[in-house]
Amino acid sequence: MNAFGSDAAAASVAVEGPPDAPSGKPSISQGPDRIAVAWCGPPYDGGCMITGFIIEMQQLPTAAPNVECDELTDGESGGWHEIATVVDSLAYTVKNLTPNATYRFRVRAKNVHGCSAPSLPSDAVELQAQEVSTEDFHRPISVKSGGDFKNRFEVLEELGKGRFGVVYRVQEREEPRQILAAKVIKCIKAQDRQKVLEEILIMKSLQHPKLLQLAASFESPREIVMVMEYITGGELFERVVADDFTLTERDCILFLRQVCEGVAYMHTQSIVHLDLKPENIMCHTRTSHQIKIIDFGLAQRLNMKTPVRVLFGTPEFIPPEIISYEPIGFQSDMWSVGVICYVLLSGLSPFMGDTDVDTFSNITRADYDFDDEAFDCVSQEAKDFISNLLVHRKEDRWTAKRCLESIWLTQEHDENLSNKICTDKLKKFIIRRKWQQTQQPPQRNQRTQYYSNKSNNNNSKNSAHPCPVRHCMGAYQRHFG
Ligand code: ATP
Ligand code: MG
Repeated sequence: MNAFGSDAAAASVAVEGPPDAPSGKPSISQGPDRIAVAWCGPPYDGGCMITGFIIEMQQLPTAAPNVECDELTDGESGGWHEIATVVDSLAYTVKNLTPNATYRFRVRAKNVHGCSAPSLPSDAVELQAQEVSTEDFHRPISVKSGGDFKNRFEVLEELGKGRFGVVYRVQEREEPRQILAAKVIKCIKAQDRQKVLEEILIMKSLQHPKLLQLAASFESPREIVMVMEYITGGELFERVVADDFTLTERDCILFLRQVCEGVAYMHTQSIVHLDLKPENIMCHTRTSHQIKIIDFGLAQRLNMKTPVRVLFGTPEFIPPEIISYEPIGFQSDMWSVGVICYVLLSGLSPFMGDTDVDTFSNITRADYDFDDEAFDCVSQEAKDFISNLLVHRKEDRWTAKRCLESIWLTQEHDENLSNKICTDKLKKFIIRRKWQQTQQPPQRNQRTQYYSNKSNNNNSKNSAHPCPVRHCMGAYQRHFG
């Protein structure tokens, strides 16, 4: 302060460092002259993106495959040799190994700050010249089965409930006794189980500080448990309406930039989230401005050659192409980002109608405006940002990468961005969403009631439309949660 008055600014500092070691021990499957090694990402990435994994191998004397690592000293490294570095993958195939030799593997994670400690070593495997079918050998990383989860973790308390699972805070029973979150999903039917396994595979392939990280998964006949990093900050929208938080447009820029960073990364990995909504954006801790995108339950890997149509989502946030059952694309997520941004700045839901049918009709017409007084203090750059996302034709919408280059997300110094945003309407929005969530009975089979038509016909306009919206509005109301 000085004689003319005072001013204040807040800053949050993220302390970054090398990542933790990859969780658990790598799993291995062997072929005639090769071994496939698969592992889990680290429970904590050190605060920034994992840039790769280093695979190390140790050859054990064949006569003593079960000796402990400490007993096998070969200089400083204990006989461990670095054999490869991989990026964007949690599996590696080691080829040209000597038959009848015994090996173990361990993995380190690295980010820009350095390399983690090694993971636990894998079980020792003796390479036997045996016939293994290619199908077996290339099977995707499978989750560990058995009642392992209860043995390894103590369940502390419930953190949240979704349509499909209950999320608990859990603690490892053994050192380092980490606190993690475990999503327990009941799935008795093979179809449901397959969907959860797909969610696990997708999470395994996504390693980014803005996306929730999976540490391990456990499978039993009735349920699958996904053990994930524990996020302590609660839902973003709940945090910004709290009494101790003053929401400004600058905060919104900070949050939306992170959402776009996470989404841009996901899209570079060919994955579309398809359920971006406020409840799925959480704060890393109670005091930080760092966010994490969670819930990959509806996420899909897209391949540009095969059009995919879906019939699910949350009515207020879904794009027109889902309602009209046209092929989705990466830009389908960007519509939802536009809706989230609109709500965060104004507390109003741009397309919300009295019924889902009204909502769908507003979305289909891309019928929204900035007329409400809530937008009086919102900058033109913010409105332009939203206007480039709430565009009917998905091809004309901004991509996440384009958003990151937008004037709105790149500016910081405009004084008006410090104006306090009134969050009264946002509080009402949150209360309504919570109430709506309690109205939906958690039916797991809703997840499998999706309609994904992987036809080879690229021309959606001319393709036979198996479920036009005007014919099945009732069905939509049942399908959408
Ligand atoms: P949905 O109905 O949103 O599709 P879902 O069954 O797939 O739900 P999630 O959205 O993954 O479940 O989780 C449900 C709730 O649990 C979240 O809204 C959040 O409040 C809480 N939650 C989920 N993951 C974590 C985590 N890693 N740390 C802390 N809380 C979490
Ligand atoms: Mg959710």
